[in-house]
Amino acid sequence: MEVKIDKDLCTGCGLCEETCPDIFKLNEDEDIAEVIKNDYEENDEECIEEAVECCPTEAISAA
Ligand code: SF4
Repeated sequence: MEVKIDKDLCTGCGLCEETCPDIFKLNEDEDIAEVIKNDYEENDEECIEEAVECCPTEAISAA
């Protein structure tokens, strides 16, 4: 699975970090989220899918 955040769509709402704090972190300088982990386990994938669904601007893609 590869997880990406479209920086143009992200509003920095923080929902993804709240949902998966091991995977997403808000970059305080840019006020957008970034992916902080690239080696995913099965538990992570469920959480990532939840974050994709939670993101209000559909900025997260995971495939
Ligand atoms: S949930 Fe979406 S819009 Fe909000 S910080 Fe995460 S990627 Fe950005």
